[in-house]
Amino acid sequence: MPKLVVIGGVAGGATAAAKARRCCPEAEIVLYDRDYHMSYAG
Ligand SMILES: Cc1cc2nc3c(=O)[nH]c(=O)nc-3n(C[C@H](O)[C@H](O)[C@H](O)COP(=O)(O)OP(=O)(O)OC[C@H]3O[C@@H](n4cnc5c(N)ncnc54)[C@H](O)[C@@H]3O)c2cc1C
Repeated sequence: MPKLVVIGGVAGGATAAAKARRCCPEAEIVLYDRDYHMSYAG
């Protein structure tokens, strides 16, 4: 199973994670951000 770690949970990070999920539904995707809040829109 592919594994992906994304650093940053705003526009770029959330977009990358969402794209990866669409391309690879079985992937293990972990998204980190140093802040408490993630992008709402992304
Ligand atoms: C004052 C201001 C107003 C703006 N207004 C608008 C607007 O009205 N409309 C609009 O479309 N755009 C606006 N923008 C632009 C928009 O904010 C950026 O284009 C967009 O946020 C860029 O997203 P990004 O994911 O590339 O980077 P960022 O938003 O910088 O996100 C990067 C994330 O990565 C995290 N991070 C970084 N390093 C680490 C690390 N080592 N470990 C963990 N987490 C880490 C940060 O905490 C951050 O949350 C504005 C920008 C500014 C500065």
